Amino acid sequence: MSAESTTVGIIGAGPAGLALANLLQRSGVACVVLELRERAYVEERQRAGVIDHFVGQIFEESGLAEALTAGMPVETLLEIRNEGVPRFLDGPGLAGGRPSRLVPQQMLVRRMIGTFQDGGGDLRFGARDITLHDLDGARPRVVYRDADGTERELTCDYLAGCDGYHGVSRGSIPDGELTTYRFDHRLGWYTVLADSPAPRYPLMAISRHGFAAQFARGPHASRFYLQHPYGEDPRNWSDEYTWEQLRLRLGDDALPIGAITGREVVEMRSFVVEPMAYRKLFLVGDAAHIITPMGAKGMNLAVTDAYVLARAIIAAEEKGDGSGLAAYSDVCLRRTWDYQEFSRWFSEMVHEAGDHSEDGAFRRKLAQARLERLFSSPTAGAAFADLMAGTPV
Ligand SMILES: Cc1cc2nc3c(=O)[nH]c(=O)nc-3n(C[C@H](O)[C@H](O)[C@H](O)COP(=O)(O)OP(=O)(O)OC[C@H]3O[C@@H](n4cnc5c(N)ncnc54)[C@H](O)[C@@H]3O)c2cc1C
Repeated sequence: MSAESTTVGIIGAGPAGLALANLLQRSGVACVVLELRERAYVEERQRAGVIDHFVGQIFEESGLAEALTAGMPVETLLEIRNEGVPRFLDGPGLAGGRPSRLVPQQMLVRRMIGTFQDGGGDLRFGARDITLHDLDGARPRVVYRDADGTERELTCDYLAGCDGYHGVSRGSIPDGELTTYRFDHRLGWYTVLADSPAPRYPLMAISRHGFAAQFARGPHASRFYLQHPYGEDPRNWSDEYTWEQLRLRLGDDALPIGAITGREVVEMRSFVVEPMAYRKLFLVGDAAHIITPMGAKGMNLAVTDAYVLARAIIAAEEKGDGSGLAAYSDVCLRRTWDYQEFSRWFSEMVHEAGDHSEDGAFRRKLAQARLERLFSSPTAGAAFADLMAGTPV
C-alpha cells in the first residue's frame, strides 16, 4: 500500500471541501482533497445559486473574490408576488448596503477547483472506498482506493469531513458521541430546471394554489420551485401541467415556456448533529447539517464552516493556538441553528399561503400578515435582509 502524509486531509470536493482547500492553500497549509466522484460529475452538479454578502466578504478577505465571483451578478431586488401582485424588497438596501451575489453552485465549484489546482493544489478525483482510522490517535489515517484501483493511505494532522450528508465521515465517529436532531417540514417541494429566460429579479410567488419561485441559472435558464401536496409524487406531472401551475402561481400568463431539462423532488428536511467534531475530525457543511433551500443558506453555511475551520487550523499551525479548534463546533452550531430558525420561519411565511388543511384558512392569514410586515415595518424588513445578507461569525 502506498503511504503518504499531509497536514489536513479533506474528504469531499463540494463547496465545503473546496473552500477549505483554497483557504488553507492561501496560508501555505498543506492539504490533500479526496473526492469520490469524477471531475465532470462534480462540476456539473446544479444546486444552490446564492452567495450571501458575508461569504462574499470571506472571499474578499482571503484574496479569492476575483478568482471565484468576478462577473457574477450582484443581488438588487427580490420580487415577491402575492396572488399575482408584484412587490419588490430592496434586501441590500435594508441590510445597510450588503448585497449577495447570484452564483450558481456549479460555477463556484468549477472556479474553486481551477483556482486550487492552478495554485498547485492536490485534488484527487475518483477516490473510492474511503475508511477513516486512528481517530483517537494523534495522527488519523485515511485509507482509500485511487482512480487506478491502487490502495493508498494518507496520514494527517487534521481530518475535515466535507463529504455531504451521505458521506463516510460522520458515520466513522464512534456510536454515542453525536446527538442528532431531525425535522421533517412536511412540505412537498418539486424543482424543475428549464430553458426559460431568467427572471429580472429572483422571484417568489405566494398564492392560494401553492408556493412557486423562479431563480436565474445563467441568463437563459431558470430553476423553478413548486410546492406540491405533501406525500404525493409530482415527478409524473406532465410538462403542460407544470407550466400551467407555474403560470397560475406566478400570475403570469405570458411566462415563456422552454424545455424542462431537470426534475427533482427536494426533501424539505432539516438535520443537525452536535458536536461537529470528534478529536481531530471536523465535520463541515452538509456532513453536519442539512437545511431547507428557503433562505438559500446551505452552501453559505458550508463555506462559512470551512472558513471557521481554516482560521482555526492556521492559528494552530502558525501560533500553536488551539483555541479556535476547540471552539469550532460551538461557533458553527450557533450559526447553524440561527439559520435553521430563519429557514423555518421563511418556509412558514411562503408555504402556509397554499395550505388547504383544516386550519389552513387561519394559517394563510398568518402567513399573509408575516409577509405584509416585511413591507410595512422597516425594522422587520431590515431583520429579514440582515439574515439574507449573512451574519458575521
Ligand atoms: C436541489 C437542491 C437545491 C439547493 N438549493 C440551495 C440554495 O438555493 N441555496 C443554498 O445555499 N443551498 C442549496 N442547496 C444546498 C447546497 O447545495 C448544499 O448545502 C451544499 O452543496 C453543501 O456543500 P457541501 O460541500 O457540504 O456538500 P456537497 O455539496 O454534498 O459535497 C460533498 C462532496 O463529497 C463527496 N463525497 C460524498 N461521499 C464521499 C466519500 N465517501 N468519499 C469522498 N467524497 C465523497 C461528494 O461527491 C461531494 O462532491 C440545495 C441543495 C439541493 C439538493
